[in-house]
Amino acid sequence: MPGGRFGVIIIGLIGLAVYYFSNQQVNPYSGKKEFNTISIEQATKLGAQSYVQMLRQEGGNVICGGGTSSCDGAGREVYETVNEIGERLRIAAIEMERDYLQAGYDFQLVATEFDWTFNVIQSEQPNAFCLPGGYVAVYTGILDITGNYDKRVTLDDISDVDKLAVVMGHEIGHALAHHGAKRMSNARLAQMGTLAVGVGLGDMDPGQAQMVRQAMGMAAQGGLMAFSRDHETEADKIGLELLVRACYDPREAPELWQRMGQIGGGQRPPEWLSTHPASETRANNFRRWMPAAIEMYEQRCGRLS
Ligand SMILES: [Zn+2]
Repeated sequence: MPGGRFGVIIIGLIGLAVYYFSNQQVNPYSGKKEFNTISIEQATKLGAQSYVQMLRQEGGNVICGGGTSSCDGAGREVYETVNEIGERLRIAAIEMERDYLQAGYDFQLVATEFDWTFNVIQSEQPNAFCLPGGYVAVYTGILDITGNYDKRVTLDDISDVDKLAVVMGHEIGHALAHHGAKRMSNARLAQMGTLAVGVGLGDMDPGQAQMVRQAMGMAAQGGLMAFSRDHETEADKIGLELLVRACYDPREAPELWQRMGQIGGGQRPPEWLSTHPASETRANNFRRWMPAAIEMYEQRCGRLS
């Protein structure tokens, strides 16, 4: 009975539409409303859980992490550098949110709520992340890419920290814009949609039903990947603003991402595997944003040489 089948699908999809439109949140960075069903408190709790788990797994590799890990000499210097950059970006984030609020965006502040924590992990992986709640990790394997790029991690790599600030600003940008929570919310929505259609397909010819399910799966996958690329662009933009507000040279950002794009496949952190925007798109974005970034930098921090 086709009428019944489509009736079920339509009722299911109307339900999802209501769910979608009743869970919209203002995103001051895009100026748009976006779907998110996960509260900041929930996201922070999840972030804290994953962070604790990660730190426990890394054990003695957590530099200055207590226990078996060392905290002297080079390790301490790297730890202190990362924490100093983190502190400047934290202050920049609080100030940026305050400015967006004053500009009239109605959104919940997060930078003042975050439980900002910065850790350095001894690892060859070129990785860094910021979990919801402001839980940041920088892996020593990224320091050469953000440093002098001579294929060796040495203390010389932290003599100039602007590129390291680019990476940390970008990762913090993801957390400030709730990208993790939005990705989870959308993945769940796609799952529910597939389920609703699946129920409606109940008595359809199994071969046909399978095809519909596959098509839906592919559409959801494609949607979520495009979504991730948008998030990368947004994190780049927020990161650039944090950079300028913290008085790091914004001109370092394009070169850093160019280097990141050059890293070999196996070495690349998962984030940069499928979701990072094509290098050309990224370069074009930075070219477009740079004049305003330089102007803001010079107003706040003095002339760039
Ligand atoms: Zn990213």
